[in-house]
Amino acid sequence: MTNDLPVCVCCNKPVEVNVDQYEKFEKMHWLCFHLKYEHEGDPDKPCDNPICPWWHLEVYREKLLELGENPEEILSNARHTDRDRELPANYDNLFIKE
Ligand SMILES: [Zn+2]
Ligand SMILES: [Zn+2]
Repeated sequence: MTNDLPVCVCCNKPVEVNVDQYEKFEKMHWLCFHLKYEHEGDPDKPCDNPICPWWHLEVYREKLLELGENPEEILSNARHTDRDRELPANYDNLFIKE
């Protein structure tokens, strides 16, 4: 079935989730479209667009901190309960810091 999926012109990977909006996003993944046309500045940082997934993560992170939770600890615990998600050694500081 995956052979029938259209391919993203930006990253050359199959478009699955937003396949019905393939044309609307100019034959790209929604995320590829956002990063190419809407995202301002460094793609590794949140932008001002309220649909930005990086910004969503920042909002969640700030809310967790407000609730007295430690976002890094939550991710660390999740990794330990999911053996397929070992963190590559060089990805130590991936989580956005203030
Ligand atoms: Zn793509
Ligand atoms: Zn963005």
